[in-house]
Amino acid sequence: MLNAIYSGPFVTLGKEEFSNSQNANIQKWSAYIKGSANRQAFFESALDWASKGSIDDYMSIHRNDKNINELKKYFNSVVDWISSVFTDVESEMCGLEWGRLYEEYHKKVYDQSKVSKDVRKLYGDPYIKNRKGIFEYILGGSVDTKLLDVRIFDEATKRSVYSKQTSEAETKEKSNCSHCAIGHDANKSKIWSFGEMDADHVTAWSKGGATTAKNCEMLCKTHNRAKGNR
Ligand SMILES: [Zn+2]
Repeated sequence: MLNAIYSGPFVTLGKEEFSNSQNANIQKWSAYIKGSANRQAFFESALDWASKGSIDDYMSIHRNDKNINELKKYFNSVVDWISSVFTDVESEMCGLEWGRLYEEYHKKVYDQSKVSKDVRKLYGDPYIKNRKGIFEYILGGSVDTKLLDVRIFDEATKRSVYSKQTSEAETKEKSNCSHCAIGHDANKSKIWSFGEMDADHVTAWSKGGATTAKNCEMLCKTHNRAKGNR
């Protein structure tokens, strides 16, 4: 990434700061950046963040600079911001796109103790498959559950809910999709096949609903999608 064509005072100073394994800040940086000083991981991250991903453009402007003050300042702003929002260091924080997250969220105000509580709560949630997504989820106001890859209902649960729902619906001569059943069109008594339905959280996961049979309802695909978009 750091092409030889960029060699000059800027790269020399950058390596002195970021690629010096004696730098006392390395331990702190390692919490957020993957890799090691002697492999230029921190220098490359600093450039990536400061250049918003366009290192080549950035280097063509700065390669002859006699100092790296601006780069250092930006890099430290990102690192200080991360550690001020997330007071506890978790291993999943390492290697996230902190430059992008900083640009997107650093102007928002966060309550440190609330953030810390939220992180702990989400780490304790067995339904979250993607813990790396916890940080952006919180930064974005805890709404985008896609970031967490919340565990979905397993096949056995869906089958047993489907069979119970369907036999009850057949007795009542109503649709086995509760939303179709209260409608007024031909679907109100339609028995959907298993493949035509999807599992839905009765109480949304984000509102504390568990991914268990008790909180599972099979809906026809149309109604499941309509509910998901709400
Ligand atoms: Zn339906």
